[in-house]
Amino acid sequence: METEGQEPRWVLPEEPTPVRLMATIWADTGGLHDDFASPADLDAWLDAVGVDREGVGATQQEFESARRLRDSVRRLAAHVTSDERPAAASAVTSVQDATSAVNEAADGRTTPRLRLNEGHLELAAGSAGSAVIGGLGEVASDAQHLLVENGSQLRACYAPGCVLYFVKTHPRREWCSVACGNRARAARHYQSVRSARGSQEHTDH
Ligand SMILES: [Zn+2]
Repeated sequence: METEGQEPRWVLPEEPTPVRLMATIWADTGGLHDDFASPADLDAWLDAVGVDREGVGATQQEFESARRLRDSVRRLAAHVTSDERPAAASAVTSVQDATSAVNEAADGRTTPRLRLNEGHLELAAGSAGSAVIGGLGEVASDAQHLLVENGSQLRACYAPGCVLYFVKTHPRREWCSVACGNRARAARHYQSVRSARGSQEHTDH
Protein backbone atom coordinates (compact mmCIF):
# COMPACT_ATOMS: atom_id res chain seq x y z
CA MET A 1 0.00 0.00 0.00
CA GLU A 2 1.26 3.46 -0.88
CA THR A 3 2.10 5.88 1.89
CA GLU A 4 -0.41 8.70 1.97
CA GLY A 5 0.87 12.19 1.48
CA GLN A 6 3.90 11.15 -0.57
CA GLU A 7 2.69 13.27 -3.44
CA PRO A 8 -0.34 15.49 -3.87
CA ARG A 9 -2.31 13.02 -5.92
CA TRP A 10 -5.56 14.97 -5.78
CA VAL A 11 -5.61 18.60 -6.82
CA LEU A 12 -7.20 21.46 -4.82
CA PRO A 13 -7.29 19.59 -1.45
CA GLU A 14 -8.48 22.74 0.37
CA GLU A 15 -11.72 23.02 -1.61
CA PRO A 16 -15.12 21.64 -0.48
CA THR A 17 -15.75 18.00 -1.43
CA PRO A 18 -17.97 18.66 -4.50
CA VAL A 19 -15.27 20.95 -5.92
CA ARG A 20 -12.67 18.26 -5.22
CA LEU A 21 -14.87 15.80 -7.11
CA MET A 22 -14.93 18.17 -10.09
CA ALA A 23 -11.16 18.58 -9.79
CA THR A 24 -10.60 14.90 -10.62
CA ILE A 25 -10.54 16.29 -14.17
CA TRP A 26 -7.62 18.68 -14.54
CA ALA A 27 -5.18 19.82 -17.18
CA ASP A 28 -1.52 20.60 -17.58
CA THR A 29 0.72 21.18 -20.59
CA GLY A 30 0.33 17.46 -21.37
CA GLY A 31 -3.42 17.92 -21.83
CA LEU A 32 -6.53 16.83 -19.97
CA HIS A 33 -6.26 14.23 -17.16
CA ASP A 34 -8.99 12.15 -15.55
CA ASP A 35 -8.07 10.81 -12.09
CA PHE A 36 -10.97 8.35 -12.22
CA ALA A 37 -9.72 5.52 -14.42
CA SER A 38 -10.94 2.55 -12.35
CA PRO A 39 -13.04 1.71 -9.27
CA ALA A 40 -9.80 1.64 -7.21
CA ASP A 41 -9.31 5.33 -8.02
CA LEU A 42 -12.77 6.06 -6.64
CA ASP A 43 -11.92 4.12 -3.45
CA ALA A 44 -8.73 6.16 -3.01
CA TRP A 45 -10.60 9.42 -3.65
CA LEU A 46 -13.36 8.58 -1.14
CA ASP A 47 -10.66 7.80 1.44
CA ALA A 48 -8.86 11.09 0.65
CA VAL A 49 -11.99 13.21 1.16
CA GLY A 50 -12.97 11.33 4.32
CA VAL A 51 -15.98 9.34 3.10
CA ASP A 52 -16.29 6.12 5.12
CA ARG A 53 -16.89 3.30 2.65
CA GLU A 54 -16.71 0.73 5.47
CA GLY A 55 -13.78 -1.01 3.83
CA VAL A 56 -15.87 -1.97 0.81
CA GLY A 57 -14.48 -1.33 -2.65
CA ALA A 58 -16.58 0.37 -5.32
CA THR A 59 -18.13 -1.84 -7.99
CA GLN A 60 -17.83 -1.01 -11.68
CA GLN A 61 -21.42 0.25 -11.62
CA GLU A 62 -20.76 2.48 -8.61
CA PHE A 63 -17.65 3.78 -10.32
CA GLU A 64 -19.70 4.70 -13.38
CA SER A 65 -22.25 6.43 -11.13
CA ALA A 66 -19.44 8.43 -9.54
CA ARG A 67 -18.15 9.55 -12.94
CA ARG A 68 -21.65 10.53 -14.02
CA LEU A 69 -22.12 12.48 -10.78
CA ARG A 70 -18.76 14.19 -11.30
CA ASP A 71 -19.54 15.12 -14.92
CA SER A 72 -23.02 16.32 -13.92
CA VAL A 73 -21.69 18.54 -11.11
CA ARG A 74 -19.15 19.94 -13.59
CA ARG A 75 -21.96 20.68 -16.05
CA LEU A 76 -23.98 22.53 -13.40
CA ALA A 77 -20.90 24.41 -12.20
CA ALA A 78 -20.33 25.54 -15.80
CA HIS A 79 -23.96 26.67 -15.86
CA VAL A 80 -23.84 28.73 -12.65
CA THR A 81 -20.43 30.27 -13.49
CA SER A 82 -21.30 30.94 -17.18
CA ASP A 83 -18.13 29.02 -17.95
CA GLU A 84 -16.94 29.58 -21.52
CA ARG A 85 -13.76 27.44 -21.49
CA PRO A 86 -14.10 24.92 -24.34
CA ALA A 87 -11.53 22.55 -22.78
CA ALA A 88 -13.59 22.36 -19.58
CA ALA A 89 -16.77 21.15 -21.32
CA SER A 90 -18.43 18.28 -19.44
CA ALA A 91 -19.27 14.87 -20.88
CA VAL A 92 -22.84 15.59 -19.74
CA THR A 93 -24.09 18.33 -22.07
CA SER A 94 -27.69 18.83 -20.89
CA VAL A 95 -28.28 20.92 -17.74
CA GLN A 96 -31.56 19.05 -17.23
CA ASP A 97 -29.85 15.63 -17.38
CA ALA A 98 -27.16 16.88 -15.00
CA THR A 99 -29.79 18.13 -12.54
CA SER A 100 -31.57 14.76 -12.57
CA ALA A 101 -28.31 12.85 -12.11
CA VAL A 102 -27.26 14.92 -9.09
CA ASN A 103 -30.71 14.54 -7.50
CA GLU A 104 -30.69 10.80 -8.14
CA ALA A 105 -27.25 10.43 -6.57
CA ALA A 106 -28.31 12.49 -3.54
CA ASP A 107 -31.18 10.04 -2.93
CA GLY A 108 -28.56 7.41 -2.05
CA ARG A 109 -27.20 9.37 0.90
CA THR A 110 -27.04 8.02 4.37
CA THR A 111 -29.98 9.05 6.50
CA PRO A 112 -30.72 8.35 10.16
CA ARG A 113 -33.02 5.37 10.62
CA LEU A 114 -34.80 4.15 13.71
CA ARG A 115 -33.81 0.69 14.86
CA LEU A 116 -35.24 -1.50 17.58
CA ASN A 117 -32.51 -2.93 19.79
CA GLU A 118 -33.78 -5.29 22.54
CA GLY A 119 -36.92 -3.22 22.96
CA HIS A 120 -35.13 0.16 22.86
CA LEU A 121 -35.37 2.53 19.97
CA GLU A 122 -32.06 3.84 18.72
CA LEU A 123 -30.95 5.98 15.84
CA ALA A 124 -28.48 4.44 13.40
CA ALA A 125 -26.99 5.68 10.16
CA GLY A 126 -28.36 3.78 7.23
CA SER A 127 -28.35 3.93 3.48
CA ALA A 128 -30.63 2.47 0.87
CA GLY A 129 -27.56 1.25 -1.00
CA SER A 130 -23.95 0.39 -0.24
CA ALA A 131 -21.55 2.53 1.79
CA VAL A 132 -20.10 3.84 -1.50
CA ILE A 133 -23.55 4.87 -2.78
CA GLY A 134 -24.26 6.42 0.63
CA GLY A 135 -20.98 8.36 0.51
CA LEU A 136 -21.56 9.55 -3.06
CA GLY A 137 -25.04 10.60 -1.94
CA GLU A 138 -23.51 12.85 0.73
CA VAL A 139 -21.22 14.40 -1.88
CA ALA A 140 -24.20 14.94 -4.22
CA SER A 141 -26.17 16.54 -1.40
CA ASP A 142 -23.24 18.87 -0.62
CA ALA A 143 -23.10 19.71 -4.33
CA GLN A 144 -26.80 20.65 -4.37
CA HIS A 145 -26.18 23.18 -1.59
CA LEU A 146 -22.90 24.45 -3.04
CA LEU A 147 -24.40 25.09 -6.48
CA VAL A 148 -27.34 27.07 -5.14
CA GLU A 149 -26.28 28.64 -1.84
CA ASN A 150 -22.70 29.24 -2.89
CA GLY A 151 -23.42 29.51 -6.60
CA SER A 152 -22.40 33.13 -6.71
CA GLN A 153 -19.07 32.26 -5.10
CA LEU A 154 -18.23 29.39 -7.40
CA ARG A 155 -15.77 30.39 -10.14
CA ALA A 156 -14.15 28.90 -13.22
CA CYS A 157 -10.38 29.44 -13.22
CA TYR A 158 -9.40 31.35 -16.36
CA ALA A 159 -5.65 30.84 -16.01
CA PRO A 160 -4.18 29.61 -19.34
CA GLY A 161 -5.19 25.99 -19.93
CA CYS A 162 -6.93 25.47 -16.57
CA VAL A 163 -10.22 23.51 -16.43
CA LEU A 164 -10.80 23.72 -12.65
CA TYR A 165 -13.42 25.41 -10.49
CA PHE A 166 -12.97 26.94 -7.06
CA VAL A 167 -14.91 28.76 -4.36
CA LYS A 168 -13.98 32.43 -4.21
CA THR A 169 -13.13 32.51 -0.52
CA HIS A 170 -11.97 36.13 -0.47
CA PRO A 171 -12.77 39.12 -2.71
CA ARG A 172 -9.38 39.30 -4.39
CA ARG A 173 -9.08 35.62 -5.23
CA GLU A 174 -9.01 35.13 -9.01
CA TRP A 175 -7.40 31.73 -9.52
CA CYS A 176 -7.86 28.16 -8.31
CA SER A 177 -4.29 27.93 -7.04
CA VAL A 178 -1.05 29.84 -6.54
CA ALA A 179 0.42 27.99 -9.55
CA CYS A 180 -2.41 29.21 -11.79
CA GLY A 181 -2.03 32.76 -10.46
CA ASN A 182 1.67 32.70 -11.32
CA ARG A 183 1.04 31.34 -14.81
CA ALA A 184 -1.70 33.91 -15.45
CA ARG A 185 0.58 36.75 -14.31
CA ALA A 186 3.43 35.44 -16.49
CA ALA A 187 1.08 35.28 -19.48
CA ARG A 188 -0.13 38.83 -18.83
CA HIS A 189 3.44 40.05 -18.52
CA TYR A 190 4.37 38.37 -21.81
CA GLN A 191 1.34 39.97 -23.46
CA SER A 192 2.17 43.44 -22.15
CA VAL A 193 5.84 43.13 -23.24
CA ARG A 194 4.67 42.05 -26.70
CA SER A 195 2.17 44.88 -27.05
CA ALA A 196 4.73 47.39 -25.70
CA ARG A 197 7.17 46.17 -28.38
CA GLY A 198 4.38 46.38 -30.92
CA SER A 199 3.61 50.02 -30.12
CA GLN A 200 7.34 50.78 -30.02
CA GLU A 201 7.71 49.46 -33.57
CA HIS A 202 4.68 51.46 -34.53
CA THR A 203 6.13 54.75 -33.21
CA ASP A 204 9.48 54.04 -34.93
CA HIS A 205 7.78 54.28 -38.31
ZN1 LIG B 1 -6.59 27.12 -12.24
